[in-house]
Amino acid sequence: MMKLYAPSTIREIKDKYGFRLSKSLGQNFLTDKNIIDKIIEATEISEEDLVIEIGPGIGVLTAEAAQRAKKVAAIEIDRNLIPILEDTLRGFGNVEIINQDVLKTDLNGLIEEAQCCRTRIIGNLPYYITTPIIMGLLESHVKADSITIMMQKEVADRIKAEPGSKAYGALSAAVQYYCTVSTVAAVPKEVFFPAPKVDSAVLRLDIREEKPVELFSEELFFKCIRAGFGQRRKTLLNSLSQLNDFTKEEIREALESAGIDEKRRAETLSLKEFAALANSLYKREKRE
Ligand code: SAM
Repeated sequence: MMKLYAPSTIREIKDKYGFRLSKSLGQNFLTDKNIIDKIIEATEISEEDLVIEIGPGIGVLTAEAAQRAKKVAAIEIDRNLIPILEDTLRGFGNVEIINQDVLKTDLNGLIEEAQCCRTRIIGNLPYYITTPIIMGLLESHVKADSITIMMQKEVADRIKAEPGSKAYGALSAAVQYYCTVSTVAAVPKEVFFPAPKVDSAVLRLDIREEKPVELFSEELFFKCIRAGFGQRRKTLLNSLSQLNDFTKEEIREALESAGIDEKRRAETLSLKEFAALANSLYKREKRE
């Protein structure tokens, strides 16, 4: 099989198809077999699994996944890459190439249709929409078991961050609520063609079967997180005053009954504390 990850192959493909890499679609292709192997190994694909790949490019990860999975659904927005993928993946009867924007794709529909035992999502994500893709998957309650994805190192740092650190924010709290997070690899910018400006990292997110905190209202929990981090330099009492459904006094009482000092900032709150706060506000809302 062609070494799809070799820069010389990428150049050949560009010449053969007159293909031009699109910066705006985040097309930085992987050229390091070692990193490709790490992503595939960490995904633990079995022959019963459906793999959904976001942004296959010319198919470096797709070809590896197709050798292990029952089925691979590869979602690529760039229609100029479709004839290339049809060519590079010609030998695999279990790959479906879908020319679509992943943000507009009904992934749960795909998963139900495939009727596989487990679903693994993989991807070397386009940087310009990494956060919307991750949050879209989680907020739509995608019926997948794990998500192994490459992203900008700075975003990976934010996802993994612990309370009290500079990188901790709404993204950390949201992803850690839905998933357990582990680091698969740190990836230097030099292993891409063309090289982006920043380094990357691969994370594996395992979607939790049971949530880490009990909530009366998930919606209110996320409202608190968004309001808290929306003005992260302000004290909680002030930042939470953005929640229009509550008076300042109600917020003060809720913070007190959750055992949280009103002068603290959102960046110091654990998931448990956000949950206690949201639950305490919920009780106040219901009292009326
Ligand atoms: N997987 C390939 C690799 O590792 O070499 C390509 C990765 S490249 C960083 C990101 C890929 O995502 C590109 O092929 C790009 O065209 C595609 N892409 C960008 N936006 C997308 C979207 N909204 N939906 C699906 N694919 C998208």
